[in-house]
Amino acid sequence: MAKSRYEYVKLFEQADQCLRNCWIVVRLDGRCFHKFSSQHRFKKPNDDRALNLMNHCGKAVMKEFPDIILGYGQSDEFSFIFKKSCNLFGRRASKLMTNVTSLFSSSYVFYWKNYFNDILQYPPTFDGRVVLYPSDKNLRDYLSWRQADCHINNLYNTSFWALVQQGQYSLPDAEKKLCGTDSGDKNELLFSQFQINYDKEPAIFRKGSILLWKENVVRKRKDVVVEHVDIIGDNFWTGNSQLLS
Ligand code: ATP
Ligand code: ATP
Ligand code: MG
Ligand code: MG
Ligand code: MG
Ligand code: MG
Repeated sequence: MAKSRYEYVKLFEQADQCLRNCWIVVRLDGRCFHKFSSQHRFKKPNDDRALNLMNHCGKAVMKEFPDIILGYGQSDEFSFIFKKSCNLFGRRASKLMTNVTSLFSSSYVFYWKNYFNDILQYPPTFDGRVVLYPSDKNLRDYLSWRQADCHINNLYNTSFWALVQQGQYSLPDAEKKLCGTDSGDKNELLFSQFQINYDKEPAIFRKGSILLWKENVVRKRKDVVVEHVDIIGDNFWTGNSQLLS
């Protein structure tokens, strides 16, 4: 097409290519999901339907963008790790982030009915960001940070909702009861007052969800599988040495 006299406006666009040789992480997070979860009557502290829907959307994103080697989901957030050599969209950060986030959001709406009987009351929003990590250690520390966050929040929420749902505490009283407690105190409280062994709670709640490509021997192709395992220690990384190679 011939150039028009207006074409110069394109020069105002800013280059945002991700630095070469870095891990590209796209993290998205639901906007005001505190409200969204209560309006849609999510089970507290953890609605497994919502977590499974998030994982379904995470899989949809990975299948569309096979340069993603790993996904990690917890609560209303998902992180996607693009391989260092990724050249999708010329590594343009805004292209990567918006394509991932919008496919995730539309999938959330599209697959909602597969997980919830109640209708979706309004369109959910997810924000997105891109972070670059230059070393494998930085990437592992990033994922450890998210999984530690999942653990800390889940231990708190499990204790909080046990006090409310089984201990008949009011919301402010439950908050007061937990104020200043460490993780040992919360484990002890769950066990002695509610006979809950925190370590026996479902792993999807305690560890979050790890999505990765595994060879499907029967179908002779790679599939995205979901695991709920520790990714902070070395075991996961030695068992999945292809990830960082
Ligand atoms: P922001 O817009 O800043 O992200 P937010 O309300 O989404 O605000 P978050 O810190 O992202 O706040 O927390 C998400 C909230 O969504 C949780 O605190 C929890 O109340 C709710 N939530 C998300 N997933 C679930 C789930 N599977 N089961 C129950 N509640 C959930
Ligand atoms: P990219 O992913 O690079 O954006 P694209 O296929 O979306 O690729 P665009 O340059 O964005 O390419 O063009 C959008 C195309 O979508 C148009 O060329 C046209 O074929 C089709 N399209 C969009 N809106 C309409 C419409 N209202 N009616 C018919 N065709 C449409
Ligand atoms: Mg927040
Ligand atoms: Mg949120
Ligand atoms: Mg969140
Ligand atoms: Mg287009």
